[in-house]
Amino acid sequence: MAITEKLIGSGPLVVAMDGPSGTGKSSVSRLLATRLGASYLDTGAMYRVATLRVLRAGIDLDDAAAIAVAVKELPLRIGTDPSREVIELDGADVSSEIRGDAVTKAVSAVSAVPEVRELLVALQRDITAAAGRIVVEGRDIGTVVLPGADAKIYLTASAEARAQRRNQQNISEGRGDDYAAVLADVQRRDNLDSTRKISPLRPAEDAVLVDTSELTKDQVIDELYQVVAQQLSITGESQ
Ligand code: C5P
Repeated sequence: MAITEKLIGSGPLVVAMDGPSGTGKSSVSRLLATRLGASYLDTGAMYRVATLRVLRAGIDLDDAAAIAVAVKELPLRIGTDPSREVIELDGADVSSEIRGDAVTKAVSAVSAVPEVRELLVALQRDITAAAGRIVVEGRDIGTVVLPGADAKIYLTASAEARAQRRNQQNISEGRGDDYAAVLADVQRRDNLDSTRKISPLRPAEDAVLVDTSELTKDQVIDELYQVVAQQLSITGESQ
């Protein structure tokens, strides 16, 4: 353990966490960031805020040009403290609205627009550079946003395990119980995200795959911590 901690150090460190929805990615990324004493960036939340703006503007989701214009100046504020979520649009908290059904259904379409990605990827790189020590979570972090990340992890889990988790979350947050619909939505989004032309969802060649289907949250964090140390020892990036 002492060697692991020495490898991980306390200096600059960029960890890229990718994978589909429902792998527990957001909560374990946040916990990993806390354990590493690092900042945390939820890039999915950024695409969700852009989507909310598009929906509020009443734009047709097939109209890529109008979407590009609507997000050109995005008054978005996103926090990087893993223990405190701050997500604002136009100065108002939207952290719960961006998780609602309307945004979840529309987000794949909005995030497939090149101008949206360009803008948000640039912002993600700026936030990472300013933070120095950070866990960045998304779909294309290790492949496109931060190909030079010190450690790259790709979380996976079966579609069924992921749908079960999401359905459980819906039940506990009062959004109803419909496993079949949730599974269909998970598969639909996987398909859209992995077949789109720009930045399709796929693991970076140098990412370590971690399957969370059979693991508890604590087991996932332990595994991720070890994987980060292992990747740092291979690349000789110890601080
Ligand atoms: O992670 P989350 O489920 O909040 O992401 C919402 C959507 O944002 C994804 O389904 C995907 O379409 C998009 N996304 C993306 N690139 C990222 C993060 C999220 O395209 N880096």
